Amino acid sequence: MRINNAIEFESVEKIEEFNNDVLTEHVKYCYEHSAFYRRRFDEARIEPGQIRTKEDLRLLPLTTKEDLEEFGDEFLCVEEREIVDMCQTSGTMGKPVILSQTESDLRRVGYNEKISFAAAGITEDDRVMIVCALSRCFMAGLAYFEGARQLGAASVRTGSGNPAVVSHSVLLYRPSVIICVPSQALLMAEAISKGGHDPAKLGVRMMMCIGEPIRTMDLKFSELGRRLREVWNCDVVGTYASTEMATSFTDCSCGRGGHFHPELIAVEIVDEDGNAVEPGKTGEVVATPLQVTGMPLLRYCTGDIAAYFTEPCACGRKTYRLGPVVGRKKQMLKIRGTTVYPNAIFSVLQGIDEVKNYYLEVFGDYELSESIRVVVGTDDVGALPGEVVAEKIRGYIRVKPEVVVEDASKVAGKIIQEGKRKPVTFFDYRK
Ligand SMILES: [Zn+2]
Repeated sequence: MRINNAIEFESVEKIEEFNNDVLTEHVKYCYEHSAFYRRRFDEARIEPGQIRTKEDLRLLPLTTKEDLEEFGDEFLCVEEREIVDMCQTSGTMGKPVILSQTESDLRRVGYNEKISFAAAGITEDDRVMIVCALSRCFMAGLAYFEGARQLGAASVRTGSGNPAVVSHSVLLYRPSVIICVPSQALLMAEAISKGGHDPAKLGVRMMMCIGEPIRTMDLKFSELGRRLREVWNCDVVGTYASTEMATSFTDCSCGRGGHFHPELIAVEIVDEDGNAVEPGKTGEVVATPLQVTGMPLLRYCTGDIAAYFTEPCACGRKTYRLGPVVGRKKQMLKIRGTTVYPNAIFSVLQGIDEVKNYYLEVFGDYELSESIRVVVGTDDVGALPGEVVAEKIRGYIRVKPEVVVEDASKVAGKIIQEGKRKPVTFFDYRK
């Protein structure tokens, strides 16, 4: 595997040149070893040698989750005996997609986390609690464990699960860093407080947040990020990755978005017509994870909407950064002409103390406008007028939705679903 520890501090031109070099080799590898991509190239009458830069990738069609579901094994580039791990991710029709990893792929995801952790300020002196599953064929927990191991930090593999149980482990192991879904970290803090301890005094110095953004588009902390910092009295950094991307974008200690790793990924941010968008504008993240050998992907549509930023970062790295994921492409809402993602509404709700949980329903009334209903759960229904919540949401997204206030236990019954990793908070009734 090609590694260059110094590259992220080189000039933008050198970074681009290096990224394109690795990309050129990767494209050639895909053509030579992947039945799926060989057919794709041949059908498009493209020679792998024609793709020498990230911009050239546009010659190739996009790869979707549906392609992975339909052509699974055709993506495989190695013999069965070279596979050391099989990851699973959910498909669009609920059909699981299996991504096979080689020894080199596993080292690669570990290396990716190692350099991401190091940039965030984690060292070999840290004790890193991994509050996400290493089991059930999930990639995330395994990648974090490999990263911490390559860095020389100590791992505490609690996995996700009941916040009360995990919080007990916080008291027992006294981690200095916790990797966690932010809403879970708040529940853990609550459980710790109930047990008579103060989470702010437990020596946790950093919370690395996955799955939910802790910053808003202007890179300031969201209400959720602010609360986490306050409750745990620690630094809060965000990291974004997916099983298919096999690469993460993690905030450095300056918190200006997740840094891009030129040896590990080529990224395009595209609008609805597939054209590249300018820095600072949101679009879909289309990823080409580099140097993957088992089941490599080219131009994979993640469905995640984010923007990238190119101005220099105070940490000295010249690589661009990816901002917070503002939403999923499929969850884009058009309300009276305004584009809104559920995450924007959720981040308002996360800032209201009385709101314990929530979900959002969308109905397709007309072609150009959809109506949404926000259901919030609270402990004392009479004490939280829906109108107050609706006005707070309007203050942020400029449209006022219908808000229904219910008992938190009733909302929990709807959003906690068996077999789902995270609460289901978005219900789409559009046709
Ligand atoms: Zn930085």
